[in-house]
Amino acid sequence: MKELESSSCRRRVALLCDYLDGELSASSRRLVAAHRRSCLPCAQVLASLERTVRALKRVKRGWRAPAASRRSLAAALRAASARRR
Ligand SMILES: [Zn+2]
Repeated sequence: MKELESSSCRRRVALLCDYLDGELSASSRRLVAAHRRSCLPCAQVLASLERTVRALKRVKRGWRAPAASRRSLAAALRAASARRR
């Protein structure tokens, strides 16, 4: 069974944001989608981000995650993978 290191998850945090922004190439989107299926912490973070982004986009079109959100996302991912150990 393949184990993903938390460091590889952290490298994907920026990808997750771009994924939600719809700014990734098709190959990068496939990478994120595949990781999401194999990594529960990332799947949970993505699901909650998607809910947030959808809600915000209803209010304001063209919203992008600010730098602070990207940092708290990284922290959430670290906490999630630490809990799994
Ligand atoms: Zn992950």
